Amino acid sequence: MSCPQILEKLDRYLDGELPAGDASAVSRHLETCHECAAVRTNRTALRERMRRLARDADVPANMHTRADARIDSETAPAYHRRGFLAAAAAVVLSFGAYLSWRSTHRTDAELEKDYIASVVSDIPPVLSIGLRQHIHCAVFRHYPNPAPDIDELTRTADAQCAALIPVMRQHVPRGFQVVMAHRCEYEGRQYTHVIARHGVSLISLLVTRPRQGEGFKGTSMDSAGGDRGFSVAGFETSGYLVYVVSDLNQLPNYSTLDAMAPALRTALT
Ligand SMILES: [Zn+2]
Ligand SMILES: [Zn+2]
Repeated sequence: MSCPQILEKLDRYLDGELPAGDASAVSRHLETCHECAAVRTNRTALRERMRRLARDADVPANMHTRADARIDSETAPAYHRRGFLAAAAAVVLSFGAYLSWRSTHRTDAELEKDYIASVVSDIPPVLSIGLRQHIHCAVFRHYPNPAPDIDELTRTADAQCAALIPVMRQHVPRGFQVVMAHRCEYEGRQYTHVIARHGVSLISLLVTRPRQGEGFKGTSMDSAGGDRGFSVAGFETSGYLVYVVSDLNQLPNYSTLDAMAPALRTALT
């Protein structure tokens, strides 16, 4: 089987739903193909993440997903002064709901689309821009393992990516390593994207051009989130929308962007 055929069968393989012949063909392929094995590793981590969400969740039986964004009156004014908007989504999935949801999504694209929709539903649109791309490009991606050499990554990146790499390296929490720096596109929008990883934990720095009417002006918000889901914080420079998105708690996620902001304002002029 070719790599695309393997990847097409991967979820059913992980679910133990493949006929024996197919399953052993997939097993053999994964032993020799690093690319597909990396996808398997990432997919397994994503499943584990969702199982954890389900396990930790304390939710009404009929509430499959919930995204919360609330204003924190104590911290919001400080954020407002700095011109930041920060929010986090708490994604809560019951395990039973996850399983039935999983079984109705046969392709990665379908799974991803629904997953993103469930996560961003209650997030302010300007913040969902960064969150969507983090999930689309960082969470549903496989990474070179071990992490690429940072000098090589910087040398091969374009100018804006290369300028963001050292900012990211300096300010991500201890243990995180930059594993990706690239330009990417989703739903017609272009991003400059730097990703750092620590275990299955991911942090994205995302930069994109605002469209007509998009911006953070006059808005300030903080929100609940924490270890069940994603946190997103954003601000704008004169020409860009800038985001840090991660599975960290809301405060460290926000603090990471806050610490980067001066350097980012300089780099993004
Ligand atoms: Zn392969
Ligand atoms: Zn990307």
